[in-house]
Amino acid sequence: MTNEQYTTKITPTWCPGCGNFGILAALIQALTQLELSPQQVAIVTDVGCSGNMADFVNTGVLHALHGRALPPAAGIKLANHDLKVIAIIGDGGCYGEGMTHLISLMRGNHDITAIIHNNGLYSLTTGQAAPTTPKGQITKSTPEGVIEEPINPLTLALSNQATFIARGYSMNVPHFTELLVQAIKHAGFSFIDALQPCVTFNKKLLAEQEKKIQVLAQKPKTKQEAWQLAEQTDQLGIGIFWQEQRPAYHQEVATLKQQSLIKQPIDKINIAELLKEFI
Ligand code: SF4
Repeated sequence: MTNEQYTTKITPTWCPGCGNFGILAALIQALTQLELSPQQVAIVTDVGCSGNMADFVNTGVLHALHGRALPPAAGIKLANHDLKVIAIIGDGGCYGEGMTHLISLMRGNHDITAIIHNNGLYSLTTGQAAPTTPKGQITKSTPEGVIEEPINPLTLALSNQATFIARGYSMNVPHFTELLVQAIKHAGFSFIDALQPCVTFNKKLLAEQEKKIQVLAQKPKTKQEAWQLAEQTDQLGIGIFWQEQRPAYHQEVATLKQQSLIKQPIDKINIAELLKEFI
């Protein structure tokens, strides 16, 4: 496989310097390294600047509704266990509108990879506060400053039993590529909170974060250790915070564990008999 096989002819429309470029580059390199053909990968994107990636990666892609990328991603995996399924979502869509989907997929250990582009704002709509925006920050939707405390995506994932939890930085492409390789290989729900500068609407956050980012020396051995690292605010560790093995959701569904839905014959199903149950 080569990077070119994953690249479309469409030029990204992101602002020059946007962190989305780094995530796109890392994703293409990770898929190439894993030697997956484009036909083996299904990507579901959310609405937002990150969601525009739907046009730039040459795999099967579904551009879903805002905040709703995770349910179709889970559905694709249930229908076809052979696919590697990747959801690409912004922090607003995932931690705002889509929060219950995120928690549900973590608890169920659905075998998909979720990359959350976290720039601390809703950016496509030109800079409104998201659940990750720091308290006190002035945005277009919070002219007197954000009142709420920001959520912590990593402790959220730890407390909801996600089996692969990582934080990456979009400007460190080699490190992010390696994280993605590990996440896509993981059998179960792999979650990456991707710190991603929005150079147009959130320059302040970018400047603050850059000074604090540090590659984790090693993967924490206990959840307590992972939790302590995830709560640090003076330093922002990047790397894998937690990984464990647990059966994936599709391996526990009685009607699907032997065979994907798409491999099951539909010619013997008598729809008329089924409908009688509802009359
Ligand atoms: Fe990137 Fe921000 Fe521009 Fe969107 S608005 S493309 S997140 S820099």
